[in-house]
Order: sequence, then C-alpha cells, then structure tokens
Amino acid sequence: MSTRRRVGVLALQGDFREHLAALRATEVEGVPVRLATDLENVDALILPGGESTTMARLMEPALRDSIQRRVAAGMPVMGTCAGMILMARDVTDGRVDQEPLQLMDIGVRRNAYGRQIDSFEAEVESHAIGGVGPAVFIRAPQLVQHGDSVEELARHGDQVVAVRQGNRLALAFHPELTPDRRWHQYFLTFNGEKR
Ligand code: GLN
Repeated sequence: MSTRRRVGVLALQGDFREHLAALRATEVEGVPVRLATDLENVDALILPGGESTTMARLMEPALRDSIQRRVAAGMPVMGTCAGMILMARDVTDGRVDQEPLQLMDIGVRRNAYGRQIDSFEAEVESHAIGGVGPAVFIRAPQLVQHGDSVEELARHGDQVVAVRQGNRLALAFHPELTPDRRWHQYFLTFNGEKR
C-alpha cells in the first residue's frame, strides 16, 4: 500500500465532496484544492466530475501552471468524467474558450453519448481493479484517440473508458459515486515525484 498522506481534490465545482469521502474510506487524507498554494501541501491530485467548462473558467492561472508543472514532474493525477476532459490534449465539442490542461496524450469528445442515454450505470472490467466493478456514466466524454504511451485499462462496448499514461489516470465514469473504492485504491498505488 501507499505511504502517501495527502491527496488533493480540485474543489472549484462538481462532485469533489464525494471524492473526499471516497478518500476517507481508503484512510487517506483528502485536501480540497482551490488555489495554487493548496497544491503545495498535497502529493497527488484528483480532478472530479462536474462541468469541465466551469472548472476551467474558475481555475486561477497560477493553479493551472502548478498542476501542469507538478504532473510533468511526476505527481499522480486522476481525472473522472469532467476531470478526464480537463486532462485531455484535445477536446471536441468543448467551448471555444475551453483550454484543457493537456496533461495526457488523449483526445476526447464532450457529451458524446447523446441525449437518449446521457446517463447510465454499467459493469466495467479491468485488471486495474482485479475484475468487474460498477461505473456511473453521466453526460460522459468519449475517448476519440490516444497516443502510443497511453494504456487502455477498460472498455464499455466499443468505447475505451479508462486509460493510464504513467502517473496519470483518466476515467470517463464516476468511481466516486459508487461504494466501490477499487479505482481510488488503484490510483493510490501510483508513485509520486521526487520532492
Ligand atoms: N459533460 C460534462 C463536461 O463536459 C462532464 C459530465 C460529468 O462530469 N459528469 O464537463
């Protein structure tokens, strides 16, 4: 298990409280991150679900810069749903002023499932969680492309819904909205940067 003590959760908008609760259940201290100075006290970061356009707008430039710098230096980061969109290199159907953080070599399309099935729960299988687990999709993005260094961890139908690139993990669904903590536990096994 990890010796990590403090995991930040971006707390500008969205379901950051559910991630903080999930971290408590894994006996790791979760820390809300709103400003660049908050990031100095954490060893890893979670970007929650919510509305990626709003989160991007509310993020102060200094926080954006620190996240990019820390992640490039190896800080583990996990993005769920809107968080996955924030991590992407390219966003299709984003807002024109929506500048993703470009933390991962992935391209995503926002709200890609369409109105009829915009929210659903499914069973998703992955070696990352040692089997099958529940996954809640809410106006989820779809992965449209990824680079060679990105590992596919899970699929739902013909869609790739979980990917890892070194210290970075992106999930199209919301593990924080189920009682299953295995995705958080998997993330907590990632090694951090040397500080
Ligand atoms: N559709 C949202 C967005 O574009 C993501 C939805 C979610 O996080 N559940 O940011």
